[in-house]
Amino acid sequence: MYASNSITATTRKKGPVIAIDGPAGAGKSTVAKAIAEMFGLAYVSTGLIYRALTLKAICLGADIREAECIGELARSADVAVLPEDGDCRILLDGEDVTAELTSPEVCAYVSQVAEIPDVRAALLDIQRAIAKKGSVVMDGRDIGTVVAPDADVKIFLVADFEERVRRRVLQARERGYDVVEETVVSEIKNRDTIDSGRKVAPLKPAPDAITVDTTGKTPEETIAEVAGIIRKELCGNEVRNTSEGMGEKSCFT
Ligand code: C5P
Repeated sequence: MYASNSITATTRKKGPVIAIDGPAGAGKSTVAKAIAEMFGLAYVSTGLIYRALTLKAICLGADIREAECIGELARSADVAVLPEDGDCRILLDGEDVTAELTSPEVCAYVSQVAEIPDVRAALLDIQRAIAKKGSVVMDGRDIGTVVAPDADVKIFLVADFEERVRRRVLQARERGYDVVEETVVSEIKNRDTIDSGRKVAPLKPAPDAITVDTTGKTPEETIAEVAGIIRKELCGNEVRNTSEGMGEKSCFT
């Protein structure tokens, strides 16, 4: 477990850090989870950390536009990250809130919370401590640029807007939320604008990131492509099809 109030990162990295950044709906979590499983690494969604704080603000009835108040909330929040069974769970003040973090309400406000500089500063330590421990695939918006600029491999996933909307609608409905497409369109537009335009740690590829366009590709195709890039970057191997199996785990020791 990684906990915001008891950071126990070791000084020496134990294994690689793979950064997977990109906008909402580009396929980050699907790819990051599969890559983590494939290579025996932990999976951490940093978006869930911002979502947990957003949930806390909503539950307390805090005004999201009050940057100072939300910043204070971020400094006092006890957020713990538990990479487990290839997934990532979040404890907020000791309670498992993972299932609540993808609600439409949290989705609607999270980018406004995440653009507050004090919030980013308060939540950076826990993310850096996770990266410092190594052996992890982290997905987010600023992993390759700010959280782990020395990550071993940096992937930036992109996809056409329409496809990202389609995926998010499907995902929300699979989770049991009754969403309409127009709402998702405006929410993703809004999040893209805020995430890319904010002053601190905006969404952008690191100069040494490898961009992968997932438009029109199945998850399996994208996972194979990204796995090939990782093998090549870490082991100097040629890009190969992942159907060959997972014999490359030893590269990460
Ligand atoms: O990845 P996910 O969709 O869960 O992220 C939710 C939001 O959290 C993003 O739209 C962004 O505003 C914020 N975020 C961020 N930096 C990260 C991860 C997420 O600003 N590293």
